[in-house]
Amino acid sequence: MKRPFLTKERAEEIAATYPTPFHIYDEKGIRENARALKKAFSWNKGYREFFAVKATPNPTILRILNEEGCGTDCSSMAELVISERCGITGSSIMFSSNDTPASEFVKCAELGGTINLDDITHIDFCLNALGGKLPERMSCRFNPGGLFTLGESSEGFQVMDNPGDSKYGMTEDQIMEAYKRLSSLGVKELGIHAFLASNTVTNAYYPALAAILSKLALKIREKTGVTLSFINLSGGVGVAYRPDQTPNDIAVIGEGVRERFEEILVPAGMGDTAIYTELGRFMLAPYGQLITRVTHEKHIYKEYIGVDACAANLMRPAMYGAYHHITVLGKEDQPCDHTYDITGSLCENNDKFAIDRKLPKIDIGDIIAIHDTGAHGFSMGYNYNGRLWSAELLLREDGSVVQIRRPQTIDDYLATLDGYWDIKV
Ligand SMILES: *Cc1c(COP(=O)(O)O)cnc(C)c1O
Repeated sequence: MKRPFLTKERAEEIAATYPTPFHIYDEKGIRENARALKKAFSWNKGYREFFAVKATPNPTILRILNEEGCGTDCSSMAELVISERCGITGSSIMFSSNDTPASEFVKCAELGGTINLDDITHIDFCLNALGGKLPERMSCRFNPGGLFTLGESSEGFQVMDNPGDSKYGMTEDQIMEAYKRLSSLGVKELGIHAFLASNTVTNAYYPALAAILSKLALKIREKTGVTLSFINLSGGVGVAYRPDQTPNDIAVIGEGVRERFEEILVPAGMGDTAIYTELGRFMLAPYGQLITRVTHEKHIYKEYIGVDACAANLMRPAMYGAYHHITVLGKEDQPCDHTYDITGSLCENNDKFAIDRKLPKIDIGDIIAIHDTGAHGFSMGYNYNGRLWSAELLLREDGSVVQIRRPQTIDDYLATLDGYWDIKV
C-alpha cells in the first residue's frame, strides 16, 4: 500500500502559501535511504555514491545528500556548475557524459573531477581539450554489446536490456586499448563504469554487474598491466512504482555485491578496489511527490479528471507510458470504484498522468498526490504550450516546509526574447 507523505489537511495548509502544483520532497526519507545505502556498502573501504544530478538538480537536495556522504555524478556544464556552487568539487565529482563538448572536459578537470570516458576517441579529444595533459584519475565506460538478461520467470526475463543497441561505452577490445593508452599517458588511477539496465526491480542486478566488471578487471590487469582502482556500478537500481511490486532491498544488494567481490577480486589480490555507485532514481524517486489540484471534470466517451499540473511538470507518463501511483488526499480509505483518465492541460493527447485508473470518486477541488516523482520528475520538465515549471518544496524532518526553488514566471519564460520583440518583418 503506497501512502502519501502529506495528509489532506497538511497539503491544504501548504497550498495556502505555495499554490499547487508543486513537487515536494521528504527530507527524512531521503536521509534514511542514503544512510541505508552507505551501510549496505560499508564493507568496502573506498565505497562512494555519486548522486546522478540529472535526476533532481536542486542544490538543497545535493547538499542534503552531500551531508550524508554522497558526491555528484554530472553529465553537462550546468550540472558541473550546480555541483561547484554547492561546494561539491574535486574527487566528489564523477563526470559521466557522452558526446561531450570540449569546454565540459575543461570545466571538469578544473574542478578536479573524475572524467569517465564514453569512447576511445575521447582520449585524443580530451588531450586536445586539456592542452595535452590528462588528469591523474580517469575512468572508462564499458559496453558488453548483445543482450543483458537476468533471472528467468514465467513471464520471461526479470530484466532485459539491450546494450548492443545502446550508444554508450566502449567494446572490450577498445577498453583494453584505452587503458594501455591512458596509463602510457601518465594517468595513475583508473576505473571502469557500466550501466546495463535501467530501473531494475530486483536485488540481482548490481551483484550480476559487479561480477561482470570484476572479471573484466582481472582480464584488464592480465592484458594491459593496469590494476583498476575503482569499479563504478553506475545507476539502474530501480524503485517500485507500482503498488504490487516488491521494492529493492539495498542491504541484500550490498551483500550480493560483497559476495561477488570476495569471490573474484579478493583472491586476486584486488581487495582494495573501491566500489562506486551513481544512483539517481533509487536515491530520490520515492521521496518526492507531485501535488496537484483537480480543476475540471469531463464526461464524454470516458471519464476525465483535469488537474492543474501537466506533462511539463512530469513527463514520464507521456514519454514512456510510465506508471505513477496516485492517491486522492483525504480519500485514502475509500473504495476505488471509479475509472478515470487524469489529464493535464497540454494540447497533446498523451498528457495523461493515468489512463483507466481505478480511484475513489473525485470532486473538483480535491488534491491529488502523484507518487515517486522525486527523480526524473521536475528535472525532465519542459515548457511546451508555454506551461511553466512548478515550485519545488522540501518537507523538513521537523515537519516544516521550505521552498527550495520558486515557480517559473512568464517573465522567466520570455527572458530569451528580451530585445527581440521588434525585429523588422
Ligand atoms: C541517468 C544516469 C544515472 C542514474 O540512473 P538512475 O536510473 O536514476 O539510477 C547514473 N549514471 C549515468 C551515467 C546516468 O546517465
